[in-house]
Amino acid sequence: MKTFKNFIGGDWVPPISGEYFENRNPADVSDEVGRFPLSTANDVDRAVESAKRGFELWRATPAPARGDVMRRIGDLMVKRKEEIADLMSREMGKPLTETRGDVQEGIDTAYYAGSEGRRLFGHTVPSEMKNKWAMSFRRPIGVCGIITPFNFPMAIPTWKMFPALLCGNACIFKPAEDVPHTGHVLVEIMVEAGLPPEVIQLVHGVGESVGAAIVNHPGIPVISFTGSTETGRIVGETCGRMHKRLSLEMGGKNAMMVFNDADLDLALEGVLWGAFGTTGQRCTATSRLLIQDRVHDELLSRLVEKTKSLKLGDGRKKGTDVGPLINQSAVDKVEKYVDIGQSEGADVLTGGRRPQGKGLDNGYFFEPTIFGRVRAGMRLEQEEIFGPVLSVIRFRDTDEAFAINNDVKYGLSSSVYTRDVNVAMRAMNELDTGITYINAPTIGAEAHLPFGGVKQTGNGHREGGWEVYEFYSETKVGYLDFSGALQRAQIVNYLGTPD
Ligand code: ADP
Repeated sequence: MKTFKNFIGGDWVPPISGEYFENRNPADVSDEVGRFPLSTANDVDRAVESAKRGFELWRATPAPARGDVMRRIGDLMVKRKEEIADLMSREMGKPLTETRGDVQEGIDTAYYAGSEGRRLFGHTVPSEMKNKWAMSFRRPIGVCGIITPFNFPMAIPTWKMFPALLCGNACIFKPAEDVPHTGHVLVEIMVEAGLPPEVIQLVHGVGESVGAAIVNHPGIPVISFTGSTETGRIVGETCGRMHKRLSLEMGGKNAMMVFNDADLDLALEGVLWGAFGTTGQRCTATSRLLIQDRVHDELLSRLVEKTKSLKLGDGRKKGTDVGPLINQSAVDKVEKYVDIGQSEGADVLTGGRRPQGKGLDNGYFFEPTIFGRVRAGMRLEQEEIFGPVLSVIRFRDTDEAFAINNDVKYGLSSSVYTRDVNVAMRAMNELDTGITYINAPTIGAEAHLPFGGVKQTGNGHREGGWEVYEFYSETKVGYLDFSGALQRAQIVNYLGTPD
């Protein structure tokens, strides 16, 4: 089995502890992907020392030149797309069609960052005074700690690191322990593309040690975290205490609402993709399906039929619709929620079990599961499961559907299927989520738009698009007074008379 290293101090190095953890294929746990460093706080210390040097060099590199590096990273990702998609499927399970999309999102993010090197706009605005200019511009901040989850092993790290780097920061990257191989290849590509080596540091290991060491390190003023709400709370508490700049992207409990007038074929296709894509392990997964009275029975029975025909299996095999869950604790969590749902009085209409059969015994598979007769307020309807479990709820009118959508602690994404433009516009206005889709499922974010949610999904920041560049840069304001006189703002106006 191959043994991998960290990338610290501009070199591939073993962890100081000399210890490693194993990474296995969730579709077949007898398949070992590799051994990865079980790093500790000591490795993080070394990474910070090096990243500080990298930062000094990189911040002095003109932004368009930093953008050129981002573009070359994108080019290399294009070249290696198929290889990365395959190794990503092997270590996290989702089908190749999806892992290719994951890499593509990284490519799109790289090219966006490349072009942003020639923008990074500030503002030049009129001054209150004569012969005075006022402007704002952006400065890099320092070393950024990048802590990422398993479900988008390429897309999420690139969403965070490419804007951070384009703004002139250095990064310390800790990939999720279930997907270290994709993280390794990403850093390999970044270095090959010409990123100065000390600008990027890769420290593998588990969250409670390496992740916590990054969050607690006084030399890292910026933390970007995507993961569970529970871990996000711990990260947030520490960052609050240490006055760190923090971007949190956490859970969701996203609903799709199908109205009586909807195109049911389209809604059916959408919910299958939204609920069971990535085996339901997306923060934007459709985990609640709200169906209006008149079309409820028809859509539900067609959905159950279709769901039964989804093919579970190894994501690298042709014909697989749904891959495994990421690990045993994910399976345990899904099983727990199936029990909770049943004890709350909801009905399992399909799935609800670990499947038997050839090719499925050695992996963390779980049948796509649909619960009927779910009522608003049940734990099944309120809590994030992060697995292939869909709760179906009947509703009467728009007010009721929107109230159910909004009555959860999360607010990432929502979806409405209707042909009524008034309902669609009301959805845009009234649904308390960071993203609303009309006639499309709750998933499908594009790299050049802001991504994020309200309430306990996040802490007000956005990834993606133009807004993320604000997170990774500090706004500075410059005033240039060329009047040759003392001009006192708010005291004396431009005519020289008291305000
Ligand atoms: P998920 O359930 O999606 O894996 P987690 O929140 O457990 O979400 O993990 C997301 C990322 O956070 C992973 O890289 C993980 O190693 C890291 N992590 C876990 N615990 C901590 C912690 N206490 N401090 C910092 N990072 C952590």
